[in-house]
Amino acid sequence: MKKKIAIIGAGPGGLAAAMLLLNKGYEVAIFEKETAVGGRTGRFLLGDYIFDIGPTFLMLPQYMEEIFRLAGRNIHDYVEITPLDPLYRLRFADGTEFYPSTDIQKILSEIQRVFPGQVENYMRFRHDEHYRFNRIERCFKRPYDSVYDFLRPTFLEALPQMDITGSLRDRLEKYFTNEKMRLAMTFQTKYIGMSPWRAPSAYSLISFIEYQWGIHHVTGGLNQLTLAMARVIEERGGRIYTSTAVKSILTTGNKATGIVLESGRKIGSDYVIINANFAYAMSSFLKDRKKYTDAELEKREYSCSTFMLYLGVKRQYDIPHHNLIFGEDFKKYMDEITMKRRPSPESLVYIHNPAITDTTLAPKGKSPIYILVPVPNNKASIDWDKLKPEFRRQVLDFIAANTELKDIGRYIEEEKIITPQDWERDFNVYKGAVFNLNHDLNQMFYFRPHNRSEELSNCYITGGGTHPGSGLPNICISSVITSELLIRDDTGDRQWRFDNKMYL
Ligand SMILES: Cc1cc2nc3c(=O)[nH]c(=O)nc-3n(C[C@H](O)[C@H](O)[C@H](O)COP(=O)(O)OP(=O)(O)OC[C@H]3O[C@@H](n4cnc5c(N)ncnc54)[C@H](O)[C@@H]3O)c2cc1C
Repeated sequence: MKKKIAIIGAGPGGLAAAMLLLNKGYEVAIFEKETAVGGRTGRFLLGDYIFDIGPTFLMLPQYMEEIFRLAGRNIHDYVEITPLDPLYRLRFADGTEFYPSTDIQKILSEIQRVFPGQVENYMRFRHDEHYRFNRIERCFKRPYDSVYDFLRPTFLEALPQMDITGSLRDRLEKYFTNEKMRLAMTFQTKYIGMSPWRAPSAYSLISFIEYQWGIHHVTGGLNQLTLAMARVIEERGGRIYTSTAVKSILTTGNKATGIVLESGRKIGSDYVIINANFAYAMSSFLKDRKKYTDAELEKREYSCSTFMLYLGVKRQYDIPHHNLIFGEDFKKYMDEITMKRRPSPESLVYIHNPAITDTTLAPKGKSPIYILVPVPNNKASIDWDKLKPEFRRQVLDFIAANTELKDIGRYIEEEKIITPQDWERDFNVYKGAVFNLNHDLNQMFYFRPHNRSEELSNCYITGGGTHPGSGLPNICISSVITSELLIRDDTGDRQWRFDNKMYL
């Protein structure tokens, strides 16, 4: 008889684990509280417009390709993935614009145009980062169940490259003398909801990854990835129950034996995988916890949140697909968001204009404009329901003053806002911290919640809340590690199951 696995949540982490485990002969059922799959990598429709809820940057698409390959499928039979060139536009407060590319000649002449004198520094940075990437990446692809995992040769070899005493900004100051160039190479910590002045120096790898392998778009939006994953699961005989919220995990002693739905129905299973937000899941699904008690969860550090403005507009703007607009004093705003816990519409505003490359998201002549502003998470106790209209106005004023979207207010015909309170209330994201636990070194590797639950046997975690962390490439890795551990525990065989070229 096939062993049964119940997965809580149909975000990319849960879907990827389901694909991998179905391919290894398990009976897999996913329970998702929403009406559709995808989680934060899902979509919603507003009138004629289609919006991605969260992710819009696909980095390292080879990781997603690998998930499909390990599940016996070719991703390119399901979705169309296109690299973007330029990657994005950076616009600084003084009006300077920078358009990076993966094309080495283009990026060198762009650096020379915008940051004269920095080309050699950039080449040195790129060379060093490539060396570091080859060592550090391997460390992310292993589980950290024991402190002794830090003694593995892969980790010890990478350790000097991790530069553990300094922040990302400290590292970049060694390479670049131009402040805007430093910003261009460090703002990427926004993707994990941290300030570059605080994020570990290992995160300089994000800008290297962008420039080396690019940023990709998926036709129809990145939500198409999770829809394709759901298709594979159904083709393979897996079951996905949408509109089916889970209330708790069934236990016998300290062993997970199934789940209890909000309806009260109990469903037995041999294994349980949690994909719902980690801290939310701990505080909601398990009463008695040894490690992740309410006090411990509260003590942990979490990423910032985001204020989201999704606008269906009756016109198109001739601006790039991705636009990052800096305010006057980026450091001051990052400090306010992450430390002083004050929201500012002028920190770093991201504008997604996918209609410029993808005609499937809105009727001709119209565009879905997605605006993201990093703001404090709900530890700040801001009353967003009250602040929302005023903050929306401030964001639109900032955009009008700093971009070509001066008249956007006149063309809005559909609109949706998501605040940090909404992330917590509607999406079950603890403290509205959408990029999960902070990626500080004391919350990474062994110090991040493990892929094999530390509370219960037969229970595993996948997604941004576990090792290695937030973002789709990391989530792909987490689902492979989690599936590997489950199979090892089930079979008693310590051999790696997936013939993984990437997960050594
Ligand atoms: C605004 C934003 C922008 C982002 N941009 C990017 C980007 O450009 N690139 C990138 O790589 N990453 C990005 N991310 C980060 C990350 O990749 C996504 O958030 C990703 O969707 C997280 O995946 P996950 O599987 O960990 O969790 P989720 O996607 O949150 O999935 C968890 C699932 O669990 C379900 N669930 C919760 N509670 C229950 C319950 N009680 N019962 C049943 N189901 C439940 C939820 O409904 C959800 O479907 C972004 C995130 C956000 C929020």
